[in-house]
Amino acid sequence: PPRSTLFPYTTLFRSLPNFYRDSEGQNWYYIIERINEDRLAYFAVNRSRLQIVMIFRDQYLGPLAQAGLLALLVAFVLSLVMSRWITGPLRRISREARQVADGRAHPIPLEGPEEVRQLAASFNDMTRQVQESQQSQKDFIANVSHELKTPLTSIQGFARAIQDGTAHSSEELAQAADVIGMETARMHRLVQDLLTLTKLDAGTIAFSFKTLDLNPLLDVAQYRFTPRTEAADIHFEVHKSDRPATIYGDPDRLMQLLDNLLDNALKFTPAGGKIILRCEVNGDMVWVHVIDTGEGIPVEEQARIFERFYQVDKARTGGEVRGYGLGLAICQQIVQTHNGELSVTSQPGAGSHFVVKIPLQP
Ligand code: ADP
Repeated sequence: PPRSTLFPYTTLFRSLPNFYRDSEGQNWYYIIERINEDRLAYFAVNRSRLQIVMIFRDQYLGPLAQAGLLALLVAFVLSLVMSRWITGPLRRISREARQVADGRAHPIPLEGPEEVRQLAASFNDMTRQVQESQQSQKDFIANVSHELKTPLTSIQGFARAIQDGTAHSSEELAQAADVIGMETARMHRLVQDLLTLTKLDAGTIAFSFKTLDLNPLLDVAQYRFTPRTEAADIHFEVHKSDRPATIYGDPDRLMQLLDNLLDNALKFTPAGGKIILRCEVNGDMVWVHVIDTGEGIPVEEQARIFERFYQVDKARTGGEVRGYGLGLAICQQIVQTHNGELSVTSQPGAGSHFVVKIPLQP
């Protein structure tokens, strides 16, 4: 080959054979070595005489084997590091997962690759929720047992008094029967509320939804509560909305909601006070307000009154009408099933204002 075509390769590919096709179409492998300043040694061999395997063996096999070994070593070390990086946190997650059932799981530090960190974060979330739910189950059972214990002790005491003759006069017997009747009725209410809540939780309560106007329900509430408010010397006002408050809902459950809210207003408002039940259409929502001038709820407790068994001050809800702190939890569930919101604003000593917001049915 002409020198000009060879020369550039001499420095580039000193030890590797180059390829050249001459003017007669013959193929050559060649190498060029510099001998001194102005001489180059040029070795060429016709390609047909040289086995490609030989070139591969002589030129490439050694370096390839070396590179392969090195790559293997690096891959081995890397895989060790990677597996520790990935499997370390995964092993910790699986260890903690075994403890979740016993309620002894701890939060896992977020380490390792992004996906494993996300898995650890989701695991921590799940553990927290499971622990909260386990705790609320324990609280729930403790609350139910506590609430049942008081009336049962009372019933047992009065029944024993009748049995052993401690209560023998007709008045004493009548009083014992009254207490037993009252406590049994309270327990019955508790069991009914618990059943309602359980069914609402499980979604097994049968809601019969239909398109309805809320205003007629306000009429029913007025009819039901007026005698009670009059007896308690409380001024009761009902304001219906000026246009149809049409929603998609279950009239029985909505009535139960109004009953609960008005029951509370009546329970916590002293004589001479005022209760207002008002309905209005506000944008694409229907708002129902239950406002009273009762004792109110301290700001720090306002979010908690919707929890099961939560009562602001157990002492203040004495007497026959004493509840169990389940009424607002039921209200909350009913409103949520109607895709609505239930909220409260209140000023202790001045009164409470409950608002139910339910989407308007176009
Ligand atoms: P309860 O059956 O004990 O009334 P609720 O779940 O209905 O249970 O209410 C929870 C608590 O919220 C009540 O015990 C009471 O302390 C407080 N509460 C509810 N409504 C009112 C209200 N209108 N005024 C003052 N406090 C209220």
